[in-house]
Amino acid sequence: MTQLMSLIVPFYNEAAAIQVFADRMLPVLDAVPGTRWEILCVDDGSSDGTLLKLVALARGDARFKVIEFSRNFGKEAALTAGIDAARGEAVIPIDADLQDPPELIADMVREWRAGAEVVLARRIDRSTDGVLKRKTAQWFYRAHNKLSKTRIPENVGDFRLMDRKVVEALKALPERQRFMKGLFAWVGFRTVTLDYARAPRAAGETKFSGLALWNFALEGFTGFSTAPLKIWTYMGVAGALLTVAYTLFIVVHTLISGVSVPGYASLFVAVSFFGSVQLISVGLLGEYIGRIYVETKQRPTYIVRQIYELHRGE
Ligand code: UDP
Ligand code: MG
Repeated sequence: MTQLMSLIVPFYNEAAAIQVFADRMLPVLDAVPGTRWEILCVDDGSSDGTLLKLVALARGDARFKVIEFSRNFGKEAALTAGIDAARGEAVIPIDADLQDPPELIADMVREWRAGAEVVLARRIDRSTDGVLKRKTAQWFYRAHNKLSKTRIPENVGDFRLMDRKVVEALKALPERQRFMKGLFAWVGFRTVTLDYARAPRAAGETKFSGLALWNFALEGFTGFSTAPLKIWTYMGVAGALLTVAYTLFIVVHTLISGVSVPGYASLFVAVSFFGSVQLISVGLLGEYIGRIYVETKQRPTYIVRQIYELHRGE
C-alpha cells in the first residue's frame, strides 16, 4: 500500500524555472518510500509561456495536474486552489523556484508518519534574501506576534507538510482574503519543525515588490488582530488627559500672570497633532472596513479557466 501525497506549486511567470523544477523534484519524490504523488501546478495568470510548459509536463506524466487561473490572483489564491483540489493524505506547498529544498520532503514525510500533523520547514539561513527583506520580515513577525493571539512562527514560509485533517480545517475556513501563513498558524495541530538553509532562486526573479510585501503585511495584521483598532481608544484617552492638563496650566498661568496673547505655536501644534491622529485612526478604520467590504461581496478567491490532467487508470 502506498500513500497518495499532494504537492502544491504556484507558478507565476516561472517559464525559466519549470524544467529545472521537474528535473530536481521528480527523483526526490520517487525516492520517498511508500508514496505516490500528485503535483498540482497552479498557473497564476502567467504571461510568459509557463502554462504551455506545464501542460507539456502534464501530457507526459500523469502525476502532474495543471490548474489554470483566468488571471493573476496572487500566491495566496494559488495555494488555496491547490489545497481545494488536493486529494493526498498529506499536502505540501512548495515554491516553484526551488528556494525550498525538495530534499527536505523525505524528512517531512518521516516526521508525519511518526505522528506530526504539521511539519514546518524553518529557514535558519536566509542570506540569499537581501538584508532589507530579511529585516522587514523580522519586524513583521515580531510586530504581528505582539499584536495578534495567532502566533506566526518566525522564518517559516509556506513550505510545510500538512496532514489531511489540517487541510480539511483550512478548507472549512470561509474567508475570501486568505493570508495563508496566518491561517496555517490559526488552525493549530500537532507541529514539528525542521531547519533548512534557504537557497537562491533557481531561475527568474522574485515576484514580490516592496509595495506587494507591505500590502501583504497589512493583510496579516488586519486579518489576525484587532489591536490596531483598539490603540486609538487609548490614544484618545491619552490626548484628552494631556488636553485637560494643558487647560489647567493655562487657567493657573492666566490667574498668576494675567492674560497673555501669544499662543499661535501651541494652538497650531495641538490642532495639527490631533488632526493627524484623527486622520491616521480614520485611515486605519478604513483598512478594516475595506476588508469587511471585500468579504461581504463573497467573490470567490480565484477563478479557474481550465484544468489539465492525464487520466491513468488508478
Ligand atoms: N507566485 C504566484 N503568484 C504571484 C506571485 C508569486 O503564484 O502573484 C509564486 C511564484 O511563482 C513562486 C512563489 O509564488 O512559485 C514564490 O514567489 P517568489 O519566489 O517570487 O517569492 P520570494 O521567494 O521572493 O518571496
Ligand atoms: Mg522565491
